[in-house]
Amino acid sequence: MLLDSDLPSKGGTHGTSRAPPNKALQQLNAGTLARPEQPTRHPIRRSIPLPESKRRILVSQRMFEPTLGLLDALREHRRLRGGDEITEKYDAFMLDPGLGPPVYLSCDGRIIWDDDGWGVVGTRADAIASVLAGIKKTGIVDLRNLLPVRPSASVDCPECDATGWFDAHGQFQDVNGRPFSIICMTCAGLGWTDHSLVLTESVLDLA
Ligand SMILES: [Zn+2]
Repeated sequence: MLLDSDLPSKGGTHGTSRAPPNKALQQLNAGTLARPEQPTRHPIRRSIPLPESKRRILVSQRMFEPTLGLLDALREHRRLRGGDEITEKYDAFMLDPGLGPPVYLSCDGRIIWDDDGWGVVGTRADAIASVLAGIKKTGIVDLRNLLPVRPSASVDCPECDATGWFDAHGQFQDVNGRPFSIICMTCAGLGWTDHSLVLTESVLDLA
């Protein structure tokens, strides 16, 4: 709050004449003195509701081996869509801008989550589900080649009837009231489970 006593010193630094108190008060009331640089000094910080400290960039180990053909398709998609700070820093490709945290695949086969308060754990299931979401969001079907090969001893996922999608028996609906499915996290969207594929373990690169 600007005090009356502050006004003469601000207005009188040129040394010729001090603004009369009533003039200064008029300016204050009109907002010309009470509105210094503050509103424009940090306009971006003011518009972001979440504190920056909640943001975590989570990077997985090298889990996948994208082929040159897949990298070409991803690069073309990135060129058309445009990049951001994460695609540049990690040479990564947006898989899913998401209703949740945006997720990326780096060219060296890591999954990167831009977790702005979502509490991402970074499990193998999260990583596999991110690739599946990427197929849907980018339309690049060759991403499917990154997924683990189904072992012969695996079993169909009972949670989603081997579809990879979970609809809670129609309980989920989109904003238009249409049935809505999410990736089944029992099988990470694979449609099968196998003891050799531990989906709940963290795949974060802690090095
Ligand atoms: Zn399932």
